[in-house]
Amino acid sequence: DYQPASRVTRIKESASVQAAARVRELKAEGRSIIDLTVGEPDFDTPEHVKQAAVAAIAAGETKYTSVTGTPQLRSAILDHVERRTGIRYSPSEITIAGGAKQVIFTALTASLDEGDEVIVPAPYWVSYPDMVLANEGTPVVVPCGDDVGFKLTPKALAAAITPATKWLILNTPSNPTGVVYSRSELEALAAVLAEHPQVYVLTDEIYDEIYFGEGQITSLVAAAPQLRDRVLLVNGVSKAYAMTGWRLGYAVGPAPLVASVNKLQSQISSCPSSISQAAAAAALTGDQSFVAECVEAYRERRDAAVAGLNAVPGLSCRTPEGAFYAYVNCAGAVGKTTPDGATIGNDQDFVLYLLDAASVAVIPGSAYGLGPYFRISFATSLETINAGVEAIDKAIRALS
Ligand code: PLP
Repeated sequence: DYQPASRVTRIKESASVQAAARVRELKAEGRSIIDLTVGEPDFDTPEHVKQAAVAAIAAGETKYTSVTGTPQLRSAILDHVERRTGIRYSPSEITIAGGAKQVIFTALTASLDEGDEVIVPAPYWVSYPDMVLANEGTPVVVPCGDDVGFKLTPKALAAAITPATKWLILNTPSNPTGVVYSRSELEALAAVLAEHPQVYVLTDEIYDEIYFGEGQITSLVAAAPQLRDRVLLVNGVSKAYAMTGWRLGYAVGPAPLVASVNKLQSQISSCPSSISQAAAAAALTGDQSFVAECVEAYRERRDAAVAGLNAVPGLSCRTPEGAFYAYVNCAGAVGKTTPDGATIGNDQDFVLYLLDAASVAVIPGSAYGLGPYFRISFATSLETINAGVEAIDKAIRALS
């Protein structure tokens, strides 16, 4: 019998990928599902980006590129990062891959030895702990509840660091909570890190453009340029430019680290699709009005979702400052009984109940390491959001 490697048996399939598959299955069975699980923009990729890809195909840009991408993409990335952080990285400090997801995975593969610890504040993006496990590392999950704004505090960071700590993973704006670290919060974390020079920081800023506050989010490297030699800043075009299917992500960081990632990448994929590279370069350098229009649409949807959910008895959520998710506390539903006589023991039970009884699909907080919550995505139409809130409200009122 086939036996997968232990690095596979010790991890789970991505909960969000699974949820999406389940929704597709139910829809295929003819059920009409109000889908609030989707982790991608519902907008189409901008036309000028598509045209750049068409032009690249017509011009024969259909061959392998350098591991670190075409000169056009590299310069687009460096300009974009400079606009976002004020820091001019050099071409030897870039790595690219088939999505930010692959960038993060490969960075961990390139840097972790067995037993190296990676600090992951919870709630976390579902993939971080499993990616660490798949690469023989040890995830050190630090619960960051609502009482601390779902953010890692300097005290909790200091307590989690050991001599074996290799990485801290930060995610701002956060999936699943939408919280954004302020400059002073990042500075305070940096002060702790100053005392632990062995700790690298992977800052996942893939939602940086999707921000509802004034101006721009503060990147970790902008708040703490002194950490530049140990920060890997991860980003990509998926979320800002509605390009999830093009699979193009990137990171900038210290040359020795990036060189090791690129060495590995040379043995993994050689390079991401040349056509996606051309599209990504066009997205990063072209007209940015698409991004602003999306953010305005997300803002309207966020406001509707948050107001609607907070009006439901037993539910509460913070107003997300970025990304397109809300993390909803459902402690008020736990312990209650469904009309069928089943007890809601935790957020997973609640999410299954919502799917069965109300045909609403959301993702349980346990997938993100902190319950009892569920995550909704508001990267969907206002009609879907309103229908979802209404159905959730009805389902909750049916509990006793
Ligand atoms: N990081 C976070 C926090 C995400 O939510 C996602 C996508 O869901 C990714 C990274 C991966 O994005 P990409 O499409 O670039 O692989």
